[in-house]
Amino acid sequence: MTEEYDILHVKNLKVDFSTYGGTVQAVRNISFGINKGECLALVGESGCGKSVSAHSILRIVPEPPGQVSGEILFKGNDLTQLSEKQMLKIRGAEISMIFQDPMTYLNPTMRIGTQVTEIFKEHAPKRISGTELKRLCIDAFDMVGITDPEQRFRQYPYEFSGGMRQRALIAMALINKPSLIIADEPTTALDVTIQSQMLELMKTLQRETKTALILITHDLGVVAKMAHRVAIIYAGKIVETAPATDIYRNPRHPYTIGLLNSIPSVSKSSKEPLYSIKGTPPDLFNPPKGCGFAPRCEFAMDICDNYPPPDFQIDEGHHSACWLLHHQAPTNNLKTSVLSREGINP
Ligand code: SF4
Repeated sequence: MTEEYDILHVKNLKVDFSTYGGTVQAVRNISFGINKGECLALVGESGCGKSVSAHSILRIVPEPPGQVSGEILFKGNDLTQLSEKQMLKIRGAEISMIFQDPMTYLNPTMRIGTQVTEIFKEHAPKRISGTELKRLCIDAFDMVGITDPEQRFRQYPYEFSGGMRQRALIAMALINKPSLIIADEPTTALDVTIQSQMLELMKTLQRETKTALILITHDLGVVAKMAHRVAIIYAGKIVETAPATDIYRNPRHPYTIGLLNSIPSVSKSSKEPLYSIKGTPPDLFNPPKGCGFAPRCEFAMDICDNYPPPDFQIDEGHHSACWLLHHQAPTNNLKTSVLSREGINP
């Protein structure tokens, strides 16, 4: 890929973890990028390497046991080359993260208002009065739809509902007006109604603030509502990347097709079993020599077990790493294997 990105460009990222049982190759040479005002979704099953990739951007992968290599260019500066002191200035200010479970991230013993203003105080260029900090926090609460912000400012996390806690995390992520927000499964812990409200809120705020957003999810339904571009990750590698509309209309990797087919459809009878991809992801202690998806792929050929597929360009911004896209590959019924996906409108 030769694309250029103005906010973040991750090049050839590899992350290994040394354990007593051997080395886990969690992220295996992936590249991706994001521009201002864009939402990029990193999609895949648990353990595929999407969260580890995001943690590498923030340099919060513990080293050791982790070992990170590659380039992480943020506005042209390689984050892997910065000192911890320089990274402290970037984390929470230039790059923010919204975590999956607010209760893990929020300090249960500290008032929410104090926690939100701490983030601002840490990165403020000069001393700011308590009154000014409170005003900034209340403005941020207003922006994310926290009702009665004056009273909420003094409350503790246990006094907030799940949805309100997630709104507080979004306020914390936004208060320093970052250029990049990484949201790691931001709605997984919420019930369906609140999930939809949160996605709507994040979409509106992202559009208004023109912040670049990396959305990490396993849910292609969430992606349809939010993302401009999608990178599908499997076994530590990006297997397909495309504009969101192309992923739904013209998926070209069997794994992407499997994920799409796994989305429950409103038009299917409740008696019909839900589709699931057979088998399990490979052991990343000892990843397959060829295509990581081969043991689960109904289209696998001899070459798939022995040589990793190169990246094939399908269209502008649409790439897929699958031997079926080689111009001499036998014809196959890949396209027709996509089941109906009503209810998904990217
Ligand atoms: Fe299936 Fe081969 Fe394509 Fe891998 S490279 S997804 S095994 S057809």
